[in-house]
Parts: sequence; structure tokens; C-alpha cells
Amino acid sequence: MEEISQIKRFAKIHSVPIMKDEGIDFICNYIIEHNVKSILEIGTGIGYSSIRFAKTKDDVFVSTIEFDIERYHEAVKNVADNNLMDRILVYLGDAATYTFDRKFDLIFIDGPKAQYRKFFEHFQDNLSEDGVFISDNLSFHGMVEDLSLTHNYRTIKLVKKIRKYIDFLKTNPDFKTEFLAYGDGIAVSKKIPPHKTT
Ligand code: SAM
Repeated sequence: MEEISQIKRFAKIHSVPIMKDEGIDFICNYIIEHNVKSILEIGTGIGYSSIRFAKTKDDVFVSTIEFDIERYHEAVKNVADNNLMDRILVYLGDAATYTFDRKFDLIFIDGPKAQYRKFFEHFQDNLSEDGVFISDNLSFHGMVEDLSLTHNYRTIKLVKKIRKYIDFLKTNPDFKTEFLAYGDGIAVSKKIPPHKTT
């Protein structure tokens, strides 16, 4: 796990946001327990989470998209250092411009918070029958529950968008969403089989 600690150190020094331990441990356990094999990740950062996912078991394949060119290059390097080039594909660009003609067991949304709904809808058809969307940072450092924790106008705007996304998940008739307090707040949205929708 030495490479992983190095990536975490790099992220801290260079202020690259990565998943909190509790959140990533939850998803890694989910991958094992539900025998997840294919993952699409929005927001690679420097590859920390995709490498952790790929290391859960040898049959996990990750496609991950990153917007920032420097982070993309660092992610590609980290994937190579961990000998995972055959199981992690890193794409460069805006996730909203990518389309895939295949299905994924798990779609992990960890990109720009204001655009979570857009990504959810954009990739909805790429979710396999028993697949799940997992969204991170839905607590946003506690501010989603308590907006008085910030007085910054931009942050308040962002928190309101996250709240709207939570409402979208809660009222989405095609998905059942569980909100979990792990890490920075995680939502697990499972497709409801067609015969169970009302
Ligand atoms: N999942 C990573 C981890 O835990 O190791 C952390 C990802 S970080 C929270 C979010 C990343 O999304 C940032 O590196 C940011 O540059 C990237 N991002 C922002 N907008 C994006 C977009 N439209 N498409 C793809 N990536 C984007």
C-alpha cells in the first residue's frame, strides 16, 4: 500500500481533493459485497479512488474522467506506477461531452458538485440493470445540513444546488436512494425494477 500512501501525501501537499477514508472504505466494501466489475467515475483527481477501487479485486475495470490536464497526467502516472493500466482507463475532458456505448455496474459521481444532476441524467442509460449511482460530498462539510456554517456567497449557492440534487434523488421515481453519513455524505441510488415503479 506504499504507493497509495504516497498518492494521499501528494494530494494533501497539492490540495487535490480526494475521498475521505470512511467514504472510500464504504465503496470498496460495496464493490466486494455486490461483486461490482465495471465502474465509471466522474472526477478522477489524481487517480486515488480509481486505484483503490481497482485494488479491491482483480476483475474490476474502471473508466474515469478528469477535466484538469495536470491532474489527468498525475493520475495516468499513478495508474502506471500501480501496474493497473490494463484495468483503469483515464479519459481527459469534460465528462458531459463523453458518451459510452456500454453499461457499468457502478457509476460514481465525484466531480463538480453543481453538476451532479446533469451527470446523473447524462449517464443514466449507461447503468446496468442492477447498477447503482454513488454520489459523494452530499453533506459538503456539514453545510448541507447547516447552512449557517458558511457566509461565503459562492459556497451558499453551491450548497443550495447540492440540496436540490438531494431533492432530485429523493423524488426520482426510477431510483431508490439511501443517504449515508460516511465520509462527507454518500448517496447510493439503485434502479427500481420496472414492475415495481408506480
Ligand atoms: N475521485 C477522486 C478521488 O477521490 O481520488 C477525487 C475527485 S475530485 C473531488 C473532483 C475532480 O473532478 C477534480 O479533480 C476536478 O478537476 C474534476 N472535474 C471537475 N469538473 C469536471 C468535469 N466537467 N468533467 C470531469 N472532471 C471534472
